[in-house]
Amino acid sequence: MNELKCRFCQSSNISLIIDFGNVALAGAFLQPGQFPDEIKYPQQLYFCKDCFLLQIINKVDPSVLFKDYFYFSSAIKTLRDHFAVFAQEVTKRFLTPGQSAVLEIGCNDGVMLRAFAKLDLKTVIGIDPSTNVISTIKEPNIITINDFFTEKAANEIKNKYGAMNMIVANNVFAHIDDIQDVTRGIDLLLAKDGVFIFEVHYIGSLINELQYDMIYHEHLYYYSLLALEKYFSGFGMEIFDIKPIPIHAGSMRYYVRKKGELKQVPLSNDVIELKRQEIGAGYDREAAYLNYAHRVEKTKIALIKLLDQIRDVENKSVVGYGASGRANTLIQYCQINNTQLKYIIDDAPAKQGFYTPGSHFPIKAREVLETESPDYVLVFAWSFINEIINKNMKYLMGGGKMIIPLPAVKVVSYEDGKIKEELYS
Ligand SMILES: [Zn+2]
Repeated sequence: MNELKCRFCQSSNISLIIDFGNVALAGAFLQPGQFPDEIKYPQQLYFCKDCFLLQIINKVDPSVLFKDYFYFSSAIKTLRDHFAVFAQEVTKRFLTPGQSAVLEIGCNDGVMLRAFAKLDLKTVIGIDPSTNVISTIKEPNIITINDFFTEKAANEIKNKYGAMNMIVANNVFAHIDDIQDVTRGIDLLLAKDGVFIFEVHYIGSLINELQYDMIYHEHLYYYSLLALEKYFSGFGMEIFDIKPIPIHAGSMRYYVRKKGELKQVPLSNDVIELKRQEIGAGYDREAAYLNYAHRVEKTKIALIKLLDQIRDVENKSVVGYGASGRANTLIQYCQINNTQLKYIIDDAPAKQGFYTPGSHFPIKAREVLETESPDYVLVFAWSFINEIINKNMKYLMGGGKMIIPLPAVKVVSYEDGKIKEELYS
């Protein structure tokens, strides 16, 4: 029997929180010819009672997971702005112009590297396994490596370019199958007084705002500070500062150093305070997660009830907005079908003309809001709701409505000269 074990500590002392059933890979957009060969994998969320890690435990071959990544960070303005500010802030705090070297793990299409490249650093390197996105970086002062970041790759980079003063891994540290190997690589490549910074979705947002749509195969770990502290201490590293980040529906930035190094920076009170809060919220205990699963199920029932009512009572049409991994999880968990939803709109040209994994909804450009005038838009990219409302005022002013699925089901409309949000339960 193949016994499931915790990805961090190998313990079998784990507890099932949500079983999503067999689910297609969230990033695997496809064409109708590929429907018959589509593979689905079990997707189960577990909590480890020994090291407190919340995780997707089922293994999927990483070479299948990230073969053709359709997520182009630069397409999202909020992210572009965020990364520009990020690069300036961390450079000012930790790096020296003309001397410092920085490496980004999972650099995608270079949205952050471009910001670093403007700041007069000695070396700016990006590594990413996805060929189609990293190949779009053409700047001469950015070094790109099309590969997975591993201990072996870290060793080669160190031999060629020296140790890094800063390693950044934003929005990827939750996606790494062999996390031990990557962490060994970071430890090896980081200068003695260097800093490893990563931003990752915060478990508090997942729990409090019921963001279960953040759960998919590619997203393996859902981090609390309690779990991360335990994990890094095993590598002789420690988290010395944190910063809450509103982007991606509630992320946390963690600053990590080698234990006892980077002495000029004191341990932040925010770290101590967050740890206290997490213990209070029970993030080290199974009960908090079981309660969460129960609340998630209630939002599913409300959303399905609304979609059925629009179809059966109002006889109106619904289309989706934002064909992301999050949309795929929500669709598959709620089992939304083509009688409830017609197609999905997405602003990224690379996805248009493809179909969503598992559910096979066609993906169209935003222009269809004008040409086909659907009655309702179900906003899967609900964490960008303000940007989406602003971008589509014409649609709303023309009588179109939007559905926000989480953390509570709401209907957005334009009435009496202003935006109105109505709770549906
Ligand atoms: Zn564990």
